[in-house]
Amino acid sequence: MKRVIVLGGLVASGVLSITLAAFQQPAAPMVVEVDKIKDNLYVMKGGGGNSAVFIGTEGVTVVDTKNPGWGKPLLEKIQSVTSKPVIRIINTHTHGDHVSGNVDFPANVDVVVHEVTKANMDAMRTPSGLNPPPAGPTIFQRNEGRGLPKQNFKTKMTIGSGADQIDLYHFGPAHTGGDAYVVFRALKVVHVGDTFANRDLPLMDKNNGGSGVEFAKTLMKASTQLKDVEMVINGHNPTTTTIADLRTQAAFVSDFVKFAQAAKKAGKTPDDVASTWKTPANYKGYAPPQAARAKSNAQVVFDETK
Ligand SMILES: [Zn+2]
Repeated sequence: MKRVIVLGGLVASGVLSITLAAFQQPAAPMVVEVDKIKDNLYVMKGGGGNSAVFIGTEGVTVVDTKNPGWGKPLLEKIQSVTSKPVIRIINTHTHGDHVSGNVDFPANVDVVVHEVTKANMDAMRTPSGLNPPPAGPTIFQRNEGRGLPKQNFKTKMTIGSGADQIDLYHFGPAHTGGDAYVVFRALKVVHVGDTFANRDLPLMDKNNGGSGVEFAKTLMKASTQLKDVEMVINGHNPTTTTIADLRTQAAFVSDFVKFAQAAKKAGKTPDDVASTWKTPANYKGYAPPQAARAKSNAQVVFDETK
């Protein structure tokens, strides 16, 4: 009884509360949610970016593999919907919440990315606007290179044919310098990664080759050149969107960039942009502005605007 009271007193004083919470909370279960969007195409959500799982004739192609530790639950979920082996991973870009699960797949699985993403994954730089991680080897170095890209492309690459055809495109710098758009040709579906992660300000990751000023132009190019595509899988959005939504996102990003450029011209700072940027009323369903994201993006736009 006495011990309980003493502990209670320490908790009340705040001294022990963090430690106790760490002991008492069981590790959050790693649940991968499944949306079947076509007969042979699934979106698997949770634990990082949205993964696309495409069941082809010869095997399974996985687009993006989530945060560290999430490769295994993702692979288990894939095995619950098909008995075919995973033969290929495509990563839309370098970020840890899209590539880290690569290390949990069999070593013979092919890994395909844009050529800039290949260089980015070798280096695993901290995204612009985020705090640096603790120093140390990257997840790929810790796994002796397992899961690193084996094939890369520059502007377009086609894998397979007929019902299996996958077209990879790169339209220029946006979220990073190595963004891939993955089209499941027969299904008329594209995974656009974090070039359009959510209806929200995108991260403009200059450290990994991304751009503020080019971002909207790249999205517009994608929206006009991705022909015969009816459904868009976004990097993080809980439901699919359309090419029309991609065009709206391009206009939204363009509005932000113009706002930041006008602020720079008027002698203002990225902090001023963060405190004054408001989501224009015509963008329905858009997230409220996040000041930290607006500030880091404004800095990127300022740096790119002479
Ligand atoms: Zn990302």
